[in-house]
Amino acid sequence: TAPELDHARRLVDGASRIVALTGAGISTESGIPDFRGPQGVWTKNPAAEKLSHIDDYVASREVRELSWQARLDHPGWWAHPNSAHLALVELERQGRLEAILTQNIDGLHQKAGSGEHRVVELHGTMADTLCLSCDDRRDMQETLDRVRAGESDPECEICGGILKSATVSFGQMLDPVVIERAQAAAVSCDLMLALGSSLTVHPAAGLVEIAAGAGAPVIIANASETPYDDLATVVVRDPLGEVLPSLVSR
Ligand code: NAD
Repeated sequence: TAPELDHARRLVDGASRIVALTGAGISTESGIPDFRGPQGVWTKNPAAEKLSHIDDYVASREVRELSWQARLDHPGWWAHPNSAHLALVELERQGRLEAILTQNIDGLHQKAGSGEHRVVELHGTMADTLCLSCDDRRDMQETLDRVRAGESDPECEICGGILKSATVSFGQMLDPVVIERAQAAAVSCDLMLALGSSLTVHPAAGLVEIAAGAGAPVIIANASETPYDDLATVVVRDPLGEVLPSLVSR
């Protein structure tokens, strides 16, 4: 894929308003498994995908208990950003990165040093909890302390409602303010990087189409095929931890 990498490098070199759309694949090299890759959580355990709908979470105490236990053990709490996250920080330092639109909930872009105002968390964050009834937002660690102390299905301390991590499950709406910000960034970029995403979850995946429709070239860097490969200017399949640093060094 040397010619593809060269082409991608030239595109990055010539761009000044870059927008990156990132997915779980940018964090696998930090030890957080993706969903649909070869080592993905759902590839290995297809039943888990069925339990990720908001209706199951609301209906079933058992699903909530399992979710809190899984949250306690989430590798994201101990993960460090990898060279792909750091390459995006470097692109921002060069003044050429407008925004990171991330489907990830792990906070690794911010941990790496990307500007808080540049990171748009399309699917929320695992760092907070939200009450599904009164919208009370708390630090996740507060709730996890309660789980550790024996509350298997902690309730909202204000209204008694169901608590959930501040992440977007299937069946939940994306925050309209967040999706608007993301669309505005996609429509005005001069290069879209789609990084480590299977591009199968909407509306996030549609951001690639918005950028391409507005005339921006698109680089898709992803280990496996995506539905948008035909629309991309260049497709790169190598691991992101190698690809991205080589794309941003001037
Ligand atoms: P996905 O699992 O559907 O796709 C990830 C893609 O990344 C796969 O196609 C895989 O082949 C590719 N990939 C994996 N490691 C790679 C690497 N090192 N280099 C290049 N490509 C690599 O994930 P998605 O597209 O982000 O969408 C699904 C949902 O997963 C999102 O809603 C997101 O919220 C959620 N998710 C987030 C995290 C996280 O926060 N780290 C982890 C798992 C899932």
